[in-house]
Amino acid sequence: MSAFLDRLPPVRGKILADELIAPFTWFRVGGAADALLLPKDEDDLAAFLAALDPIIPVTVLGAASNVIVRDGGIAGVVVRLGPAFGKVATDGLRVTAGAAALDSRVSVAAANAGIAGMEFFSGVPGTIGGALRMNAGCYGRETKDVLVEARALTRNGERVRLSNADFHFSYRHTEAPEGLIFVEAVFEGTPDEPAAILERIEALKARRETTQPIREKTGGSTFANPDPPGTPNQRSSWKLVDEAGMRGARRGGAQVSELHCNFLLNTGEATAADIEGLGEDVRAAVKARSGVELRWEIKRIGRPAVDATVEGYLAKDA
Ligand SMILES: Cc1cc2nc3c(=O)[nH]c(=O)nc-3n(C[C@H](O)[C@H](O)[C@H](O)COP(=O)(O)OP(=O)(O)OC[C@H]3O[C@@H](n4cnc5c(N)ncnc54)[C@H](O)[C@@H]3O)c2cc1C
Repeated sequence: MSAFLDRLPPVRGKILADELIAPFTWFRVGGAADALLLPKDEDDLAAFLAALDPIIPVTVLGAASNVIVRDGGIAGVVVRLGPAFGKVATDGLRVTAGAAALDSRVSVAAANAGIAGMEFFSGVPGTIGGALRMNAGCYGRETKDVLVEARALTRNGERVRLSNADFHFSYRHTEAPEGLIFVEAVFEGTPDEPAAILERIEALKARRETTQPIREKTGGSTFANPDPPGTPNQRSSWKLVDEAGMRGARRGGAQVSELHCNFLLNTGEATAADIEGLGEDVRAAVKARSGVELRWEIKRIGRPAVDATVEGYLAKDA
């Protein structure tokens, strides 16, 4: 694979060949990236992207709390943003956060500065980059409610600025062009006493501890709720999964959580194919029971393992 590294432009940060991604994903599954790029700073990343052969795919990952990385790994370059992209600063009622900053850090920084409205970020175990891509949220608040604007790099390394409206946010989804790498976001809240905001953050954390398997190898909510928040008689994915009899269902080392049946778990030795396959089993069972086609909220990225393809399967039998 070092021949692949030879095709990549030089960087001031680091590029690692054939680097395993699983250890830093929440599910702890998945193959290697052809190359993992850890850019030194924004200029380094922009120059790399500008000089990179346009046919080489680029994938950016944050805390990898919303992805299943398939067993065959990820083609091309995977970008992980480091400390230079993790700064958080407050000014009046605004918070400026680098895309690698953890959402929980942003909520606490806002609270300490007396900025309310970002408490929900404390319940999302991802980065700001992932929150922008996913319109992350919980308990009735979402990224779209607090975002002013974001800065990003295009696949060609150009710098662009997006207003809140440019995202066309919907439930756990945005229409921001695929391929953008978000580097920074500005959020705005409302004034309140820091102690009161911190208290709400603690209450929110306590609520999650008892209702979600947050210490497991998981990807959070697997399927988006079929109806957006606010819809009368809103249907929940977890209820549909439960009614289809899939609570606790297993495939290989993967299991539907008993505690919250919209969460899939790696019980120890699961492959990405086990987890994704179990998700498809759940979708089929829900479709058969209630006619609803659940939409994956978790992103599934990368190549299946060779022996998960038809060719591999036939080769194994030969
Ligand atoms: C226990 C648990 C609980 C969870 N609870 C919630 C919840 O309550 N609400 C909720 O909304 N989500 C929840 N999630 C899902 C997840 O935390 C969110 O979707 C989060 O926003 C993902 O952020 P991330 O940094 O981990 O992104 P990743 O999982 O790394 O990536 C997700 C997507 O974002 C893209 N992305 C990441 N960084 C960037 C960037 N800098 N620029 C462009 N694209 C980028 C990736 O390419 C990918 O498409 C939960 C997950 C777990 C494991």
